[in-house]
Amino acid sequence: MSLTMKILLGMFLGLVTGVTFNLNGIDGAFSSFFVDEFFHVVGKVFLALLKLLVVPLVFVSLVCGTAALDDVRKLGRVGGKSFGLYILTTAIAISLALLMALIIQPGVGFNLMSETSFQMKEAPTLAQTFINIFPSNPIKAMVEGNMLQIIVFSILFGLALTLVGEKGKPVLQLFQSANEVIMKMVLIIMELAPYGVFCLIAQVFAKQGLDAIAPLSKYFFVVTLVLLMHITLVYPLILKFLCGLNPLVFFRNFRNVILFAFSTASSNATLPVNLETCEHKLGVKNSIASFTLPLGATINMDGTAIMQGVATVFIAQAYGVGLDAVDFLMVVLTAVLASIGTAGVPGVGLIMLALVLNQVGLPVEGIGLIIGVDRLLDMMRTAVNVTGDATISCVVAKSEKQFSKEIFDAK
Ligand code: ASP
Repeated sequence: MSLTMKILLGMFLGLVTGVTFNLNGIDGAFSSFFVDEFFHVVGKVFLALLKLLVVPLVFVSLVCGTAALDDVRKLGRVGGKSFGLYILTTAIAISLALLMALIIQPGVGFNLMSETSFQMKEAPTLAQTFINIFPSNPIKAMVEGNMLQIIVFSILFGLALTLVGEKGKPVLQLFQSANEVIMKMVLIIMELAPYGVFCLIAQVFAKQGLDAIAPLSKYFFVVTLVLLMHITLVYPLILKFLCGLNPLVFFRNFRNVILFAFSTASSNATLPVNLETCEHKLGVKNSIASFTLPLGATINMDGTAIMQGVATVFIAQAYGVGLDAVDFLMVVLTAVLASIGTAGVPGVGLIMLALVLNQVGLPVEGIGLIIGVDRLLDMMRTAVNVTGDATISCVVAKSEKQFSKEIFDAK
């Protein structure tokens, strides 16, 4: 059985097991042992194993990637292209979300008397977000897993390594061989995925159940619909027309990453698998993937922007607040910026939604309305987020001639 089949089976069995526990109640000793202890422990260990690779992999792989770029101007070009394309796809995502939400009107007729309780956590300001990109201590950045800071340090390190020339060779070789070792670790941990995924999904559904969706079914439906549209229309069109690649082959090669993202609801935790897949199955050269993917996992959140667009319209309608054209433009702008500031971990998109709501004067408590179904949507939007990262990596790699069609086409 292929790994994909095993992961799908793990998901399916996890779903059935979780729903069964949920229907029977999870307060008994037997159920709580499984849900709170067993599933919880195995799921957390699996997530930890994935996450433990992120910092060393990004550091080592990006140093190798930067050192492989023979000229510094290339780096600026790759950075500019990836950043521009990431922003563009996010803007498309949020516009699509607003459009569909305005057509379907998920919040109209919503009963606002329902309980809303949401403690808003503070969202960072824009200036702070910018300052935070630059590390004052690289070890601290790594300890905290601060991706943008690690990216800045790794690029500087890789750049210096190239400039040092001959004397830098031994260090470069060390990094190249460490890169191979960590990639191997990714493959080993991927083998554990079916079990990890089973426990993660079982726990989510045991706790969540499906009944939370019913009152919010229209909101849930619109977010899901736009996520599907984005992943089945926008990305394939980009792949087809910007780089002449067959989207079906892309998805065949990429499917495991989507399953990982769905199960973990974290772009960061999915990053090692995404890097491995982009390099070895999609044909994106390390010099591009090592830069574009960590950057994308941190700043490119199309799925999250979609949720935020639909949620904004939903909350406005539910509270009977009208939004005009300027408001919509503000939503697009803030959601794109919020997407840059959203860390690739579960649930952060909802916190950043506060930023968007504030911007257009909508009640932040509205978040309390949708929090109940957010975990499931988080899983789906994370799958879209990582697909966006890989799509843009292909485009950038193709345009920089750092793409191997043989690897892409290989079965
Ligand atoms: N969970 C998402 C991710 O990691 C972020 C979010 O929307 O909360 O990509």
